[in-house]
Amino acid sequence: MNLTGLFGGTFNPIHLGHLKVAEEVLGHFPLDTILFIPSYIPPHKSSVEVAPVRHRLKMVEIACQGHPAFQVSEVEAGRPGPSYSIVTLRRLKRARPQDQFFFIVGADAFLEIETWKDYDRLLRECSFIVVSRPGFGIKSLEKVIERIKPAGVLPPGSQALFNSDNPGPGKLYLLEVPTPDISSSDIRKRLRAGQAITGLVPPGVEQYIERHKLYR
Ligand code: ATP
Ligand code: MG
Repeated sequence: MNLTGLFGGTFNPIHLGHLKVAEEVLGHFPLDTILFIPSYIPPHKSSVEVAPVRHRLKMVEIACQGHPAFQVSEVEAGRPGPSYSIVTLRRLKRARPQDQFFFIVGADAFLEIETWKDYDRLLRECSFIVVSRPGFGIKSLEKVIERIKPAGVLPPGSQALFNSDNPGPGKLYLLEVPTPDISSSDIRKRLRAGQAITGLVPPGVEQYIERHKLYR
């Protein structure tokens, strides 16, 4: 059995905050692989605001170089239409029947879980690892967790995936760790203003953005 993390996002562009999330998750959970899953965005929305999917994929690929456990998946990017996590999960389950899946999401994104298609099914069919983000501590999730009532909530510190009495899907793991206060929106804003983004993205991604004149 493989333990596989699913890290979805627009990755517009990928930055060091994303990488820190993935590294911290690997440091705390015995996952074999983390799949980075850039979402599909319809071409009419691909503009200065959203870079074309081939560029977003390429930047994620560059950022994952040198991390053997990090992989890029085109499961959403390669398929026109809205990217629903429940659909993605079921497709991946079919493609990788041996795997057990863990959605990795930042706390700001998890606050919106009730707007996700079939989120209650999703919460039952896989587990979630929710990672804090500057301004969004694990504490900020209290109310949403109360409302969605997941089968098993594991507070920060309970990372032993198989030490629990009931391993398997339906778990919500909470991970409070420092991640850098970086966002893709801020990076895009800086680029539009002609400012440097050194130290916010991996050097290879910075060069790629420069070479393809993205987000200007
Ligand atoms: P944007 O500003 O365009 O929304 P973003 O920086 O939030 O970009 P996304 O692609 O929207 O990046 O995020 C993908 C996932 O990564 C989400 O689950 C989000 O919560 C998480 N994430 C992004 N940046 C951080 C960060 N600095 N710390 C923790 N989680 C993060
Ligand atoms: Mg975001």
